Amino acid sequence: MSIENLTIGGTQVEVHRKKIKNLHVGVYPPDGRIRVAAPDSISTDAIMTAVLTRMDWIRRRQSRFHSQERQSVRRYVSGETHYFLGRPLRLTVTECDTKVHRISIEGRDRLHLSVPADSTPENRRKWIRNWRRAQLRELAAPYAETWASTLKVAPTFWGIREMRTKWGSCNPKTGRVWLNLELSKKPVEAINYVVLHELAHLISPRHDERFIATLDAHMPRWRQIRSELNALPLSSWSE
Ligand SMILES: [Zn+2]
Repeated sequence: MSIENLTIGGTQVEVHRKKIKNLHVGVYPPDGRIRVAAPDSISTDAIMTAVLTRMDWIRRRQSRFHSQERQSVRRYVSGETHYFLGRPLRLTVTECDTKVHRISIEGRDRLHLSVPADSTPENRRKWIRNWRRAQLRELAAPYAETWASTLKVAPTFWGIREMRTKWGSCNPKTGRVWLNLELSKKPVEAINYVVLHELAHLISPRHDERFIATLDAHMPRWRQIRSELNALPLSSWSE
């Protein structure tokens, strides 16, 4: 199997070539990513045509995902479920007299947010986001270090930010790697996989055979981890 990225009608499309008979176009949550499963023998032009003829349907699917996303916007009040490292945590918000906020995980499934009485949902959202960033950084740092030395690559920088369409990114020319803040909601092995994936781009910028061989050698289960990562529920997505 090989994976390539095409830009069709101004939109990024991931093409997976496989030993199959028929071409299949899929649109996936959370943000309407387009994935094409194509027979090995079909030409790139034929794939582009197939996607373009389905563009109306693709746009309809994408806008449905976007409206689902808006519906699950959080208010950061007690009782909401917030995912962290693949686990649903029940949020408890308490008001305190001080000006500082505090965030902690209590027991197995409770996220406790202690806030000044005058905090707004925007304040609370920002605090939780900063907390997520710090937690993800701490968790991913040893993975990044280990994979860099295992793969004998040297990223010049890695950071965490919000990204709309990808779990991570890597610029092989500059050696800069970004992880999606959203990963803080995903299981630890998924985070580890994305770190490996991005650092493997320092060996091969494309999803070519060499790249796939690197993943196969170091994380034989990566395909399964990736499909679980992309299949997790929408409810874990939106903030
Ligand atoms: Zn990649």
